[in-house]
Amino acid sequence: GAQRHRVLPVEEWLRKWSEGATAFHRASGHPLLQEHLDVLTSGHSGLRVFFPLCGKAVDMKWLADMGHSVVGVDVSEQALKEFFADQSLPYCEEPVPGISGAKKLQSTSGNICLYCCNIYDLSSAIVGKFDGVWDRGALVAVNPCDRPRYVSLLSSLMEKNSSYLLVTVLYDPNKHEGPPFYVPESEVKSLFG
Ligand code: SAH
Repeated sequence: GAQRHRVLPVEEWLRKWSEGATAFHRASGHPLLQEHLDVLTSGHSGLRVFFPLCGKAVDMKWLADMGHSVVGVDVSEQALKEFFADQSLPYCEEPVPGISGAKKLQSTSGNICLYCCNIYDLSSAIVGKFDGVWDRGALVAVNPCDRPRYVSLLSSLMEKNSSYLLVTVLYDPNKHEGPPFYVPESEVKSLFG
């Protein structure tokens, strides 16, 4: 209830990045990804894994080093460039046919491809479909009014036998305004069906 009408414009996220207000970023890999990795991969290698609203999550490098192909999207070019710099990964940059103003930053080794654009501009025609999704700081960062749209986009990007790992946070939404926003399990169930 309390957070339902909160809206963070994209500019607000860009400002957070430029001011270094990025306490959500973790310097080390996420323990829940490590713990539940088998759910995501079922022991397979060479999967396509999607990081919606990726920021500069270090787990992208971790999965790529394991032999997976990682695709991320973030509206902040600064975040994506900091990712490649922090990980000492060379990359090249090109425009994205079909999304004006968007950029695709791809590691020279080819297995990490980060789109700099609004996630709602993506489609399976542009990024293909994924075997797995790691959603940390993503559904909980989406404006509450945009959740149905976000989930329907993510569903359209998933292969039939894919898995989706979602991290949410539990707290009293009357005490903090978010993000991260409070997304109770009942809403996760109604959103994803
Ligand atoms: N998942 C990352 C970042 C979480 S913060 C992590 O766990 O560290 C949320 C991120 O979403 C920010 O980096 C912000 O720039 C990005 N973002 C917010 N709205 C977006 C949108 N509509 N399209 C693409 N990226 C967006």
